[in-house]
Amino acid sequence: METNPCNTPANVGFSISSKVSRTIKPDATLVDIKGVMVGGSEIIVIAGPCAVESREQLFETARAVKDGGARILRGGAFKPRSSPYNFQGLGEEGLKLLAEIRKETGLPVVTEVMDTRQVELVTGYTDMLQVGSRNMQNYPLLKEVGMSRKPVLLKRGMMATIEEFLLAAEYILNQGNEQVILCERGIRTFETSTRNTLDLSAVPMLKSLSHLPVIVDPSHGTGLRWMVPAMAKAAVAVGADGLIMEVHYKPEEAICDGYQSLSLNEFAQLMTDLKKIARAVGREIS
Ligand code: PEP
Ligand code: MN
Repeated sequence: METNPCNTPANVGFSISSKVSRTIKPDATLVDIKGVMVGGSEIIVIAGPCAVESREQLFETARAVKDGGARILRGGAFKPRSSPYNFQGLGEEGLKLLAEIRKETGLPVVTEVMDTRQVELVTGYTDMLQVGSRNMQNYPLLKEVGMSRKPVLLKRGMMATIEEFLLAAEYILNQGNEQVILCERGIRTFETSTRNTLDLSAVPMLKSLSHLPVIVDPSHGTGLRWMVPAMAKAAVAVGADGLIMEVHYKPEEAICDGYQSLSLNEFAQLMTDLKKIARAVGREIS
């Protein structure tokens, strides 16, 4: 894919001169989220609930994932739900809770921004902006987060090719923001036994084509709590720079994505196992 035969001056795809390309920048980019570095030898685990639901739910989950070794807290305040009748997130109240627990735990926070009109508000409360799968090709949003000076967690579109994914990242870099993490979160295929098909081959492919760090989301990638540990371990083994996983203090009561959320105990056990895999591939997890 270094040169795309369809490229003409009027139809330019990913190329070796793209800003995201490893050819023009051979050294790995380190993304700095309030001092937590993604893209170096340490594998960074991002964990927390799918959605911020309440103070108790967020705070108890956050404290536990910190104890387990997570370095960054996740939690959605603005949720992109397939049905407009489902819980849409707590909005600014959720952002305030995230900011409060960030202060208590010291964990940097990542949360999703869905709309250009929210970027300023969300930026005020978070340490990294998440652009979700459904918005990977929302070009005005990509430009807007590219103009902000916050790191961006860009999730692969559920029907996006590797080239489209890299070109989406290019939009952000093109605005002067090189602090971008790529996240493989599964793609739509004919297979229905899992929520998505987690494309782990995307990890070595993206890392060979681009200097940007690559992480994996085995929660949305499988949709199945019991499968998350196996795919998380596999992700570390194929060279992912980190993981983002959904964890809930009461998964069976979660308003959103409970069936794919790890319990606090499952998360703690997985972190112990992941450390062994990390060591085997010459990486570490703190
Ligand atoms: C999420 O991480 O909460 C989420 C909605 O993921 P995705 O955009 O990958 O579906
Ligand atoms: Mn979710």
